[in-house]
Amino acid sequence: MPADFPYQDPSLSIEERVEDLLGRMTLAEKAGQMLQLDARQDISEIVLEKLAGSILHTSPAKLVEAAELVARTRLRIPLLTAEDCIHGHSFWPGATIFPSQLAMAASWDAGLVERVARVTAIEVSATGIHWTFSPVLCITRDLRWGRVNETFGEDPYLISELGAAMIRGYQGDGLTDPTAILATAKHFAGYSETQGGRDASEADISRRKLRSWFLPPFERAVKEGCAVFMLGYQSMDGVPITANKWLLNDVLKDEWGFTGTLVTDWDNVGRMVWEQKVCADYAEASARAVKAGNDLVMTTPAFFEGAQEAVARGLLGDHDLDSAVRRILRLKFALGLFENPRTPDADRQRAVIGSPEHTELNLEIARRSLVLLRNDGVLPLDSAAGPRRIAVLGPNADDVSAQLGDWAGDSGQVDWMPDGHPRELTATVLDGLRAAVPADWEVVFEQGAEIERLVADPEGETFPDGQPRPPISQPIPADPERIASAVAVATAADVAIVVVGDTVNLTGEHKSTATLELQGGQIALLDAIAATGTPMIVVLLDSKPHVLPPSALNAAALIQAFNPGMRGGQALAELVLGHIEPSGRMPISAARHVGQQPIYYNQVRGQHGTRYADLTQDPLFAFGEGLSYTTIAYDGLTIGEPDVAADGVVRAAVRLTNTGTRPALETVQAYISDLVTSVTWAGRELKAYRQVTVPPGESVTVEIELPASDCTLVDTDGVRVVEPGDFELLVGPDSRPSSLLSAKFRIS
Ligand code: BGC
Repeated sequence: MPADFPYQDPSLSIEERVEDLLGRMTLAEKAGQMLQLDARQDISEIVLEKLAGSILHTSPAKLVEAAELVARTRLRIPLLTAEDCIHGHSFWPGATIFPSQLAMAASWDAGLVERVARVTAIEVSATGIHWTFSPVLCITRDLRWGRVNETFGEDPYLISELGAAMIRGYQGDGLTDPTAILATAKHFAGYSETQGGRDASEADISRRKLRSWFLPPFERAVKEGCAVFMLGYQSMDGVPITANKWLLNDVLKDEWGFTGTLVTDWDNVGRMVWEQKVCADYAEASARAVKAGNDLVMTTPAFFEGAQEAVARGLLGDHDLDSAVRRILRLKFALGLFENPRTPDADRQRAVIGSPEHTELNLEIARRSLVLLRNDGVLPLDSAAGPRRIAVLGPNADDVSAQLGDWAGDSGQVDWMPDGHPRELTATVLDGLRAAVPADWEVVFEQGAEIERLVADPEGETFPDGQPRPPISQPIPADPERIASAVAVATAADVAIVVVGDTVNLTGEHKSTATLELQGGQIALLDAIAATGTPMIVVLLDSKPHVLPPSALNAAALIQAFNPGMRGGQALAELVLGHIEPSGRMPISAARHVGQQPIYYNQVRGQHGTRYADLTQDPLFAFGEGLSYTTIAYDGLTIGEPDVAADGVVRAAVRLTNTGTRPALETVQAYISDLVTSVTWAGRELKAYRQVTVPPGESVTVEIELPASDCTLVDTDGVRVVEPGDFELLVGPDSRPSSLLSAKFRIS
């Protein structure tokens, strides 16, 4: 296209082009440019009337239509297209769907997670989508929250490492890379500090607490060059995040130097009017959002009129939208969209979507995501022991949607995939076992129980204003006949594999749970199978850690799989049969009882005692925990030079000995305890970890290096500092104090 105007001339600098284009835009065009609208609505109204700068949830067909509509607008400003590709290209039929973010975190492998994000970007960028709303950098606090599965777990350091890796993977060689997509650090910040796990409740959180635990993964994302930050839904200290100038301007932009783009969460601007009720109308809300420094306004169509009215009423000046519009345009120029709007590319799609290499990587991360939590020796099953009969039982043994989890296919967010991803792309646990057992083994399946179903809300199918009320989840009670059939199959088998967990109806936004127990007929099924005396292997295929009944806790083996993605069943079968070694480690603590919330390991010192009157506070499974098919002994932790300067490095070594007969991939975890602090602080915090292979019968020495400058706390003024004095380095296989060796050092 010949350049009619300077902004269309690629030989000019981005800044020159931005200023030229901005100078030509009307107020309406600027307000429209700030809109990111839901493309499931009328796409021609979105592009031609609301003049939107960006769209999300765009079906493959509408992506093509939207690009054509842009050509009919006055300035032909290309659209930014965005989607929640949070563990693969969620809503592209046939794309590679990886394990959930929580499951991937169990690999503790940043390099692997980076490769997953790279592959996701390669698939996404071929489809005309420029931007993913990932990674989630929220720290899990209360397991009842519905969005635990979207997080990397509970630890700020692990989240920072994995989040940074994902950002690198998505953004590839930089925005001019045709396979790069924009990454989004979300949800900025504090959204996961729920009350009782309730979604988007007021976050009771001080600035110091934010800086201590919630902000570090986001600060790291800025350093990693993350292009976009997305807000959450929370308010803090009476201020909705959308209006939080301190966090959005003082911290994110001024202090950390973020120069990227900010997007609100879903209808955050509208919510200030109709939900939080802190603004009387859309003009006020639009003005507040603009003044606080937001750039793109997600799914508040009324911002279009609201922002213009705000200018007319003097709530905003004529040029108050300019900074936001500049940042949006800069991003579009940086991506080169004016020259190449990166529309869907059918040839590339055929070559990359769900390709064999991507499927292989999916299998690799699924293998690394599985956490073996208990094993009395039943695993791995012995293929040499002659023919065997395996009973495969439970509601999630053959359930594609539980296996893929939230944000995939028919999980509820989009309307163009009512049947989800093609069935044959997913290997359920049943599929995986059938394909992997020796030819003379028999696999017999009986579901035995169900979990829940959706029913109408007892308060009525509509709200008072006539809007539909979402249905609610109701447990499906145990059915004695189905349990009897499962018992018969288990009794006649050599081993029973029972796959239990939750469903997408119990996962995600608006779907926090009051309890953490396995729902429906699952506990009755586990109890009945345990009573048969057949060795029972329990597989937890769920969105978050659950509270388990004694029958599951006393099972011969217990495997935490979370939502393991399309290859999850194959990986699980390989693990059970001993074709691979278990290596996953819990990225999150599991509770014995829902009343233990919050149960994260890095609690602040100072509470009275360590237990409730009626229950321990010890977690069921601790952060970092996980078994191998061998045992690893840790000894000989030493610190080379225990007196370390403030700008020095703590250098330690520890010996690992594999005392069994199989190899192990061990995750050596290094925690720090600052022995005396000027403020109350966490008893221990993860600061480093190393993954090493230890061959059977051998010892390896693992070196750990930790800059003294990482041994920080946040003081009463909210400043992160190193306080000189005595520290303890704690090294071991998980976060339990009893698992850790310790050595003292001093920072002077
Ligand atoms: C969620 C975000 C998501 C957005 C777009 C919101 O409701 O909180 O995480 O990216 O919707 O789908």
